[in-house]
Amino acid sequence: MRTYRTPRTPGRRARLTVAAALTLSAALTAPAAVSQAAADQPTPGAPGLGDPLFPLDGNGGYRVRHYTLDFDWRAPLTPFPASTTITATAEQALSRFDLDFAGNELRSVTVNGRPAQTRRDGDELVITPKSPLRKGGSFTVKVDYTADPTQIRHRDDAIENYGWIPTPDGTVLYPQPNGAKMIFPSDDHPSRRAPLTFRVTTPAGLTAAANGKLVDRSVRPDGRVRWTYDSEQPVAAQLVQLAIGRFQLIDSEGPEGLPLRDVVPDALVAPTQQYRDLTPAHLDWLRERLGPYPFDRYGVLVGDTDLGVALETQTLSLLPKADLLGTRVDAERDLVHELTHQWFGDSVALATWSDLWLSEGHARFYEREYSEEHGGDSFEAAMRTAYENHDQWRHDYGAPAEPTEPNLFKRMRYDGSALVLYALREEVGAGTFQRIERAWLTTYRGRAASTADFTALASKVAGRDLSGFLHPWLYGPKTPPMPGHPDWVVTPVVTP
Ligand SMILES: [Zn+2]
Repeated sequence: MRTYRTPRTPGRRARLTVAAALTLSAALTAPAAVSQAAADQPTPGAPGLGDPLFPLDGNGGYRVRHYTLDFDWRAPLTPFPASTTITATAEQALSRFDLDFAGNELRSVTVNGRPAQTRRDGDELVITPKSPLRKGGSFTVKVDYTADPTQIRHRDDAIENYGWIPTPDGTVLYPQPNGAKMIFPSDDHPSRRAPLTFRVTTPAGLTAAANGKLVDRSVRPDGRVRWTYDSEQPVAAQLVQLAIGRFQLIDSEGPEGLPLRDVVPDALVAPTQQYRDLTPAHLDWLRERLGPYPFDRYGVLVGDTDLGVALETQTLSLLPKADLLGTRVDAERDLVHELTHQWFGDSVALATWSDLWLSEGHARFYEREYSEEHGGDSFEAAMRTAYENHDQWRHDYGAPAEPTEPNLFKRMRYDGSALVLYALREEVGAGTFQRIERAWLTTYRGRAASTADFTALASKVAGRDLSGFLHPWLYGPKTPPMPGHPDWVVTPVVTP
């Protein structure tokens, strides 16, 4: 994401619940040797993956293979019938398992077509099938519910709400960091992804759009229209997009025939065109540095909303209208930022939320580099300012790879993390840095990767162990000297 507002609320420290801490410790201390008989005994899947910041997000014991989302959408603030059908593979013999699901009105749940027992515990939907699920077997879960697009959650950084974002005539989605569970029952962790099929029925005159490709549009006898989209590639729950409104779908072609499709409210088509038309140039600029674009299509979704942030929803970045109605420099920073995320964060996914610096740091790095070349601020001057503030940000928000609070979209994750990449480039030289970037995107394309993976790969490409260089930058209490800039000075920390 990219924010253009100044964060205004001080962060809170992460609160690990007892249940979550137990989950984490159980995961870490599982006995190495258990008898085959014991291994075949059905046991509950873990309620979470033990993420340091959001321990209960994601679920243990199975992997989702595919989601089908059926939405019988009515109006921006009207609850509507919905169902989610999940096919999954059990990774252990399961007596029960969890989905992440928040709010909405649960109707019924079946597993392999048979009614299942359910219990809701916070954001966990605990499902006990009629009979246990065999390890390695595939199974199908269908959750029927009444979706509530009015439910609101606050993220105390730059953004009022996330989850469903109603617009005057429809909706857009802002699932990051963990709002997908407000939209559909899911395995809601950035390291977990699966392909999706969206089947959305709208009133006549409206258009639905989602990640990936429009594969069908059919008019029902009552005049309502059903839109079917296929995500084509697996998507992390936080990067799912579904938009409804009075839209035009504007198709064009990018470099090497890449299909582009923008999704734009009718009244905003002309006013935003001059900046949307820059996408092919942005793709060319990034492809030259990062290698091939990682997905089958791309486009910009213009949000008819005052939401203060953009989001890199996969293959269809959400940009609030204000981002595309201002200056060219500002618009291009936002457009290039979200496009860069398609490589960093979308194609190479986050292993945990603490790895967010890898996604936001890279997006900010290339955003600033592009902007400097196209009439924007000096990249080096911005990095010098970030350097001066770095100890303060470490103090306030945690080191780049160790956020200390769940409201993690703070300045340390943006310029503060781009600064680590800037330091690495100064240390190893521009040529080696670019080889690291290319190797990272090739090696981990379509997979989740961690900070340790980045350090190891950078060391391998550079031909020397970079952990002693990167570790203090990423985890240390004090900002190290900037290579090549002995005159750069960190401002002492001010404690309120
Ligand atoms: Zn971002």
